[in-house]
Amino acid sequence: MARDTTGSSAPEVWTTVAQSQTRCGQLRTAGRSIGVVPTMGALHDGHLSLVRASLAQCDFSVATIFVNPTQFGPHEDLRQYPRTWDADFEQLSQLGVDAVFAPSVEEMYPEGATTVVSPPEIARPLEGKFRPGHFEGVATIVLKLLLAIPADRAFFGQKDYQQSLVVQAMVRDLNCPVQVEVLPIVREPDGLAMSSRNRYLSPTERERALALYRTLQDARKWLEQGERCGETLSRKMKATLQPAADSIDYAVVVDAQTLTTLTPLSTSTQVVALIAAHVGTTRLIDNLLISLPASPNDSET
Ligand code: AMP
Repeated sequence: MARDTTGSSAPEVWTTVAQSQTRCGQLRTAGRSIGVVPTMGALHDGHLSLVRASLAQCDFSVATIFVNPTQFGPHEDLRQYPRTWDADFEQLSQLGVDAVFAPSVEEMYPEGATTVVSPPEIARPLEGKFRPGHFEGVATIVLKLLLAIPADRAFFGQKDYQQSLVVQAMVRDLNCPVQVEVLPIVREPDGLAMSSRNRYLSPTERERALALYRTLQDARKWLEQGERCGETLSRKMKATLQPAADSIDYAVVVDAQTLTTLTPLSTSTQVVALIAAHVGTTRLIDNLLISLPASPNDSET
């Protein structure tokens, strides 16, 4: 079926789980594949790249907009998290998304709903350590969204690298019948990873925030030069980041699948450099996937 890309037909808006499940049932009966893009709104080009991928790969694409309270800690930014429905809906309409699922908090967490998803092991380090309870909230809401929208494919960003591993492990462990797609990080022209939280940054903080990506690139350079000790890499990353960041939660290079620290004898060929740091009061995360030759000396042979 030809897609209307003129933006002239507005997306369907679903606000209840029942509505969403009924419509998805009809679509599936009609043999149409469904893509879902879970977001918390305040959309930018990173989110839109996921929507474009869904539009390209699926017959019917649903973007969800839901600021999930259970993934925020008690001292985090739930209350001031940007809510920009009009702009979000306009952008999604322009792209030609087929439906927007925008439930209320009461719809997703009705009174008395106490069941939660215990997240997989991969949720323990890094974000799991610095944001206790975060991945329980993420796993629970992602599963609930996947049940509300029984999609063929679900699209996530590498920007939240550990989250993408958590979702993939949960989908595998719980036999969710959905294909998880993880898409690359979309950056501003100067390298800053796009994030809904970037709008919290003052101009000088935004300038300082560029140190995150610079540090990730430095880590890649040190790895390319043969450094394989996780502790050394982390120490050097922190030293580079320190002058720009107000505090650093972590700056590490770890195995891309297991998130375990590299040792000089590690055989990992795919690693990921990950940073979480505060600039002003804003907590930023970024990462870079890096492929290594099997041995540091490979390039010399
Ligand atoms: P959020 O609204 O922050 O929960 O993000 C919704 C989805 O968009 C998640 O899968 C994120 O990983 C993804 N995302 C956020 N920022 C970016 C980015 N800069 N590039 C690609 N994907 C992103």
